Amino acid sequence: MHQSILSNLAIVLLMHLMMSTIMNYRDRLNKRLVSVSIIVIFSGAVISMFYLPIEFGEYKLDLRLIPLVFLALLKGWKTTIPVLIIVSAWRFFMGGDGAVPGIVFGMVGPTLLALAFFNKNNIHTMLLHKFVIVTFCWFISDFPIIFIIPDGLELFKSIYLIRYGSFIGAAFILYSLTILEYKREVLKQRLEFLATHDQLTKLLNKKRFFNVVEKKINVTRGNCYIAMIDIDHFKRLNDTYGHLTGDYILVKLSEILRKFENDKMTVARYGGEEFIIYIDEDHIHHVVEILETIQNEIRKTKFSLDGISLSITVSIGLARLEDSQLQTAVKAADEKLYKAKKNGRDQLVS
Ligand code: GH3
Ligand code: MG
Ligand code: MG
Repeated sequence: MHQSILSNLAIVLLMHLMMSTIMNYRDRLNKRLVSVSIIVIFSGAVISMFYLPIEFGEYKLDLRLIPLVFLALLKGWKTTIPVLIIVSAWRFFMGGDGAVPGIVFGMVGPTLLALAFFNKNNIHTMLLHKFVIVTFCWFISDFPIIFIIPDGLELFKSIYLIRYGSFIGAAFILYSLTILEYKREVLKQRLEFLATHDQLTKLLNKKRFFNVVEKKINVTRGNCYIAMIDIDHFKRLNDTYGHLTGDYILVKLSEILRKFENDKMTVARYGGEEFIIYIDEDHIHHVVEILETIQNEIRKTKFSLDGISLSITVSIGLARLEDSQLQTAVKAADEKLYKAKKNGRDQLVS
């Protein structure tokens, strides 16, 4: 019996390993393929348990509800219902006396109960909450034994400790591994964000901007442009009001720029008080229109902090991106920006 409990636990661990692998590569896989893989992995785990039952005298039970309940609690009905249908059909066609009660009490009942408690926002919290649900699921699965089989009460009394213990043990192992995986994923995302974004403004950093734009120019067919934006007399503003006020202006200015971001426009902090924009737009007059709208919005915005209200202006240099030569376009936009500064600032030179 202990060996078969361990073999059920091994299935749970293998299932977790396969899930982690899929989750690690999910950015590179298509969304539908990920969903199908999850369905296959969980169905495979439950079905494997049918063939590795834990024998209690002449009765065979297994930990089939653990994968189902976890799937329901972690992914909700969209992924769980297909798995439930597949494994129920499989069990039904395997036949035997225990097929229907095994489906109803061992799988459908507990899974529906877990689905009722699915909440996207607290998937990885509330350990106790998860164990209470597993306890109820065990109850739904095993309590009917008392009524369904002859001498059911005796059997229930003799197996309830080992059954409940193995459910809780399997649930604890799966929960702990899932939490570890989740923490690793959060850390990975945080590191990725730190490596690709500017910490003050949360805009893309220069390196990421170049990566993103290189990819975009390889697929675009029409014209595209690079604009460099630089705040006028920012040093003076820093010297007069302090660097914290300067930082605040940079954050607020980035919020304005982010509002204009879309599929055709990518914004990044180039460095200091300079920003860079990639615009995928065929006609230059549309590009100028967009940039002038941004320039106007910045000009009319009152940046208020600690009772002071400040206004700023920006200069913009605009260049067409030719022959996918990104660096050349950036250099040209920079030169135009220099001209805008020389001509008296607060203007766009294209
Ligand atoms: P111009 O109109 O010619 O652009 O004048 P400017 O004063 O804006 O230009 P300059 O390049 O001389 O000064 C840029 C200033 O931006 C200098 C630096 O103190 C400030 N700066 C750069 N990065 C940051 C930052 O992260 N926070 C703050 N507060 N200031 C910054
Ligand atoms: Mg400046
Ligand atoms: Mg500058």
